[in-house]
Amino acid sequence: MIVKSPEQHIAIFPGSFDPFTLGHLNIVERGLQMFDKIVIAVGVNSAKKETTPVKQRIEAIARATSEMSGVEVTSYDGLTVDAARACGAKTILRGVRSVADFEYERNLADLNRAIAGIDTAIICADPALAAISSSAVRELKYYGHDISGFIP
Ligand code: ADP
Repeated sequence: MIVKSPEQHIAIFPGSFDPFTLGHLNIVERGLQMFDKIVIAVGVNSAKKETTPVKQRIEAIARATSEMSGVEVTSYDGLTVDAARACGAKTILRGVRSVADFEYERNLADLNRAIAGIDTAIICADPALAAISSSAVRELKYYGHDISGFIP
């Protein structure tokens, strides 16, 4: 007999989300089928060139997910595993679009499991959304192209 634990299963979905795209939104929607709660955590990454202030990114994500129950949005600096512990997440949620993404994510997942015992759940991108990257959207926006088809 399978006895379901009453404990909430929380996942943290960390990223730069600069900007939050339809690809990210799809990972959240599908992640909600697996987890009771998803904490979308905007990482403040000093090494990455950011265009949108973190506060604005959080507001945009909150608007895009306002109709979904079980979603929380926050920001963090430092290690993802520390942010995971702080919000009670036992799992890190990530998306992969390609083999290159997978290799990158596997390294991160191995490292995070080694240092903190936290596992990573990887969801494969919806093929229709796999070409969307935040960096491409930023580039299109910079050159004045319409980006409404790529963001929520
Ligand atoms: P990071 O800077 O941590 O890579 P991103 O904001 O670029 O953060 O992406 C966050 C997560 O979402 C990563 O796991 C990334 O692979 C995934 N992701 C990005 N774009 C897509 C997409 N179009 N479909 C599915 N997953 C995606």
